[in-house]
Amino acid sequence: MARRRLFLTLVAVSLPMAAGPATDLARAIRENSLDSEACYRIRDFTLFKEDIRFYLTDGYLIFSKPIAGRPVAAIFSADVENGSGEVILRPPNFAERRALASYIGRPNLDEGLQAAVFFFTGDQYQSLIQQIPNNPTNRRVPEMGALLAEKWNPVLHNLSGSLDLRLSLDLLNGPVRQADFFAAAIQSTRWNNFNIFFDPDNVDQIAAGQFTTRKGRTFFDVWTHFAARSAKGGVASGPLRIDLSDYRISATVEPSLNLTAVTKVKVKTAIDGLRVLPFDIAREMAISEVTVDGMPAEFVERENTVRGGITRGESSFFLVMPAAPLRAGVEHEFEFHYSGKAIVDAGDRVFYVTARGNWYPNLGPQLTTFDLTFRYPRDLELVTPGEVLEDRTEGEWRTTRRRPNGPIRMAGFNLGDYAHARVSRGGVVVDVCGNRTVESALRPRPPLPMPLPQTGPRRGRGAPLPDTLSPPLPLVDPLARLERLASDIAGMLEFMGSKFGPPALPYLTVSPIPGNFGQGYPGLIYLSTRSYLGYAGASRPQEVFFDELLEVHETAHQWWGAQVTSAGYRDDWLMEALANYSALLYLEKTKGRRVLDAMLEEYRLELLTRSENGEPIDAAGPIVLGSRLESSLEPRAWRAVTYGKGSWIIHMLRLRMGDERFFSMLAELLKRYGRGEITTGDFRTLASEFLPPRSDDPKLEAFFDQWVYGTGIPALKLTYTVKAKGMRWALEGTLTQSEVPAGFEALAPVEIQLPRGRDGTQPRLITKWVRASDEPVTFTVDLPQAPAKVTLDPHNGVLRR
Ligand SMILES: [Zn+2]
Repeated sequence: MARRRLFLTLVAVSLPMAAGPATDLARAIRENSLDSEACYRIRDFTLFKEDIRFYLTDGYLIFSKPIAGRPVAAIFSADVENGSGEVILRPPNFAERRALASYIGRPNLDEGLQAAVFFFTGDQYQSLIQQIPNNPTNRRVPEMGALLAEKWNPVLHNLSGSLDLRLSLDLLNGPVRQADFFAAAIQSTRWNNFNIFFDPDNVDQIAAGQFTTRKGRTFFDVWTHFAARSAKGGVASGPLRIDLSDYRISATVEPSLNLTAVTKVKVKTAIDGLRVLPFDIAREMAISEVTVDGMPAEFVERENTVRGGITRGESSFFLVMPAAPLRAGVEHEFEFHYSGKAIVDAGDRVFYVTARGNWYPNLGPQLTTFDLTFRYPRDLELVTPGEVLEDRTEGEWRTTRRRPNGPIRMAGFNLGDYAHARVSRGGVVVDVCGNRTVESALRPRPPLPMPLPQTGPRRGRGAPLPDTLSPPLPLVDPLARLERLASDIAGMLEFMGSKFGPPALPYLTVSPIPGNFGQGYPGLIYLSTRSYLGYAGASRPQEVFFDELLEVHETAHQWWGAQVTSAGYRDDWLMEALANYSALLYLEKTKGRRVLDAMLEEYRLELLTRSENGEPIDAAGPIVLGSRLESSLEPRAWRAVTYGKGSWIIHMLRLRMGDERFFSMLAELLKRYGRGEITTGDFRTLASEFLPPRSDDPKLEAFFDQWVYGTGIPALKLTYTVKAKGMRWALEGTLTQSEVPAGFEALAPVEIQLPRGRDGTQPRLITKWVRASDEPVTFTVDLPQAPAKVTLDPHNGVLRR
């Protein structure tokens, strides 16, 4: 629930709907209109919702017609002579003030408004109507109401189409959970339209942001997102907690690739009398029937769902209203019937599964058991995690039933015409499935044809280009690397197993997916079809990525993501950074330190690449903004920061700890959080326990403030002199830092190499960690000999320019 999307979308399409109280309520909300009789000329009204403050100074206020006994929407218009209104939002912490400033140029939102549309399920109507007697000039103006209703009804409809289910959920559960949702769509001169939300089902209830388009791509820029000040320790009702367990799914993949499924799952909540529950499912899926404890239940899907095509596997939410309210602490059996196009044909019997983690109703990843039965055309193969309990072919159909032998967070599946390479090593079975053919997008293209001599008759007949003009295509065999991939991945599992403990499951299926990406699910990896092709002697970072990094990264998610998981979007970076750095550790071990350094260098250059505003990509925002970094400010930032800076953060911690302590820390992380969630704060505490004794910054507070919660990549310069002091030597150095915000204090290693001793011992290395500051910092090291070499940070110990 914490991951419920906050964002209004402004598209509404009509679909036929079933009947029932939830359906009727959602429809009433969508079809709601303004009540011209409830229009007021107002002065000096206020509308406060926790930290959100509206001052409706001078204008009109019109309410929507009542729904379930009261208005759920209102519009304020400042369209009168000297009309005005204002909205004020002050984020309570530095990070969110800075995030806001990166979008609107100032740390607090204080904006004049032309108009605002409010949606509410709490007591906002009462609080507004009570203010009418405050000023003798406040009065009802039905004649204006008619004009305003005509002008604003289309806007109200448009917005209601996005909020109908959210409002219905609150209103229908009202008797047992305090309805408390609030949303505002604001029209201002400076920022056109933007939105503010208060969602009690989110841990951070308050958000403000805006839809923007950049180079043809639409973003929802989250300006700021934080917990209401009064919510420390939780709002009255707190986020809705619903436990889903014991999934039993029976699915059929038709030859048309349509997926039809029946999912049974146990549902438990701590709230007694809950009437309506929300679920997520891929947008491609349409629900046809839901039962709860064997009784038909009402369900309402979103109206603006776009089905078909590649919608990037996005989730949509729908409501289920059981015939009887749920009882607290009781496991209720939910059964969902649904179907949709979750698989796309990429050509030549290569398939693309669009709905990978959300092809069944869910509420985000929850650790539970799965029992999965798939029926599919016999000439295809379907893979999903788990031991095979049943596998038979009847007529044109093949049926396979699998059950992972322990709880997992989500179950994926893949399908194709596969060849296999299997390797069993160290108690783990690796099964690499490869497509027998290459999808057309990956086939080498002939070079552009040379201009043909104008031989009239041939052209006139429309003859094809003669073959002799293009060289024969190099043969691409997606299966050539299969055996090697299987033994490589077994090696990766073995390496990581030796460092972190056993993987999520004792087997791993690796299956292809068209596209330039991969995904690691428990027991199942989706690996880019490019990675199957391989690059002999890959050296360019792009080649290293597809040739090796991607598969190791996805393999590492068997620990980071499949076992321990992130507590929220602000912690998601941890899973990616740990998976990616684990991949780099493996490449370091198998290919040498040079590969690790080359990738770190690649990430460094990417982070320092200038955005259109002249700032490095790194400056777009701190890593803890998570998916919010994928914004119109710098769409490349999410990737560069999450993977690149994330890897640097883990690498810098490793150098601070030393390898032995570093690997102990990773093993301890899995021991402590292996079946649960971890926050960025938990990770800081854990990491600080593994610093060497008497370390600078022993709680890693400065480290996290600078690299995790902040931005900035310093330039560092070392100068030094060496002086004889009796029988010993003194190294006096100065470390100068620049190009970072005031207060940044990079901690950098200075490596001092002493000459070989007279007894022939190896050169001695002394590492002195020096904390840089706004002003140059001087330091002294007492040495028994004159140093042979003094180097600032020779091993990428600090991310710098
Ligand atoms: Zn990943």
